[in-house]
Amino acid sequence: MNQQVLVAGAGPVGMTLALALRRQGALVRIIDKAGARTDKSKALVIWPRTLELLDILGCAQVFIEAGVRASGARILGEGRELVHVHFSRARSTYPFALMIPQSETERLLEQLLAADGVQVERQVELLSFTDDGQRVTAQLRHADGSLETAAAAWLAACDGAHSTVRHALNLPFEGDTLESDWVLADVQIDGELPNDELTICWMPEGVLACFPIGERRFRVIADVGPAPEVTPPPPTLAQVQALLDRRGPQGLRAHDAVWLNHFRINERKVRDYRHGRVFLAGDAAHVHSPAGGQGMNTGMQDAFNLAWKLALVQRGQAAPGLLDSYSIERSATGIQVLRNAGNMTRVALLHNPLLRELRDLAASTLGRLPAIQQRMVDQLTELDLHYAHSPLSMSLHGTSVQPAAGARAPDVALCAADGSATRLHALLRGGKFVVLSVGVAPPGITPALKSLACAASTDAAEDYEGGHHYLVRPDGYLALGTRGDDASPIVDWLQRLL
Ligand SMILES: Cc1cc2nc3c(=O)[nH]c(=O)nc-3n(C[C@H](O)[C@H](O)[C@H](O)COP(=O)(O)OP(=O)(O)OC[C@H]3O[C@@H](n4cnc5c(N)ncnc54)[C@H](O)[C@@H]3O)c2cc1C
Repeated sequence: MNQQVLVAGAGPVGMTLALALRRQGALVRIIDKAGARTDKSKALVIWPRTLELLDILGCAQVFIEAGVRASGARILGEGRELVHVHFSRARSTYPFALMIPQSETERLLEQLLAADGVQVERQVELLSFTDDGQRVTAQLRHADGSLETAAAAWLAACDGAHSTVRHALNLPFEGDTLESDWVLADVQIDGELPNDELTICWMPEGVLACFPIGERRFRVIADVGPAPEVTPPPPTLAQVQALLDRRGPQGLRAHDAVWLNHFRINERKVRDYRHGRVFLAGDAAHVHSPAGGQGMNTGMQDAFNLAWKLALVQRGQAAPGLLDSYSIERSATGIQVLRNAGNMTRVALLHNPLLRELRDLAASTLGRLPAIQQRMVDQLTELDLHYAHSPLSMSLHGTSVQPAAGARAPDVALCAADGSATRLHALLRGGKFVVLSVGVAPPGITPALKSLACAASTDAAEDYEGGHHYLVRPDGYLALGTRGDDASPIVDWLQRLL
């Protein structure tokens, strides 16, 4: 049977999925109906958790070298600083926001794929498909109009917000389109605007946000009242300048616009990300407010979650039931990200003067508390996302080991089974589970489980409890932790997977 995964859509999510599948030895084909990658900056931020996952793939550095680091974010209210958060609080190897235009992110992903022998097939459109329970049969149209019938074991719908696959499955895209119209501008800005921080201005007439893209280039977005029935023409540079003058820090001058547009905010999600042999990921499954800049990041993290599961099932190392956990885990994350981004947007858009005053007061007092600052950073960086309620996360009676089942497994220096020095992320690169023993001798891994997991140990690690074994999933989350005198729950967990 054809074991291939067909990835429909070569945006950031489709290409991340194809790359992760390929690096885990899976058979993958990736198609896109467009003739070329986007040349638009669209999603600008790669957050630390996504960088960690790219590190597990072995390519975080490629992105870091192509972007610029932002060290914090500040919220100004009528000229005065209300909140200032520093990303150095992020408990990660990457304590910064990587500012990199989506066009660059896509270029790098396509390059990495090509280096791994996978070409994105452009001008190949998925028209329709059937899923007979054994395989997916897809109808594809090529640039010259010719049709192809392609068979695959699985179809990954990474075909964006207007997903053909979602429409073909007739899946409701539940949620709302917000009333307000927004202006977007990629421009050069001269003046006193930090180019290593995100600046957000809450003003009585509306919100204005400036995100650095590199040198003196910035993305400016601002709400401009209720959206008209018909999409307005792109804003002019003069209109953007007027918004900067009224709402931004004083003395800014915008020039050399690269991209001017209007957009509206959609907050929508499908209920289930899996339908038989079809998986939805990225914007095909969820779209959010750009507040928090988490749309693309969350989509790329869908891809990391799905890739190792599909790779294990394709290799016959896990029962297909494992794939059910994809929707359970990622749909719960989607709900959380949608809620957080929606809340941030609504708070920024408050118009009632009394509520605005209360908001500003709360932000300037609570926003200074270290615990609140930490929460804001954990949330923005997506380091707080976890799978505690997943069927794959097993909490054992009588143990309350930290980090808990479902939590992110922080990277740590380790000693591999052959005695060599390594790191957790480097070991995960092979697509296997890691049995991590902290302050105890590693348990033996039976020959039957050796293709699925490898052992590693450390005498002590700041983020882990001594005297315990942990089972780390290939995507860097913890399946379970157990006492050092009994590793059998880990062996049982792995055996159940088979
Ligand atoms: C104006 C704008 C500004 C944005 N700003 C931000 C931001 O600041 N931060 C943020 O996180 N996000 C932002 N986003 C959202 C971000 O761009 C998306 O979350 C991200 O692109 C999602 O990636 P994706 O791969 O799921 O989908 P897409 O990037 O939409 O890619 C889908 C791909 O599928 C292809 N395709 C579609 N149908 C088919 C088919 N039938 N057959 C084959 N191929 C098909 C398309 O050609 C496309 O290449 C912005 C989006 C827009 C439009």
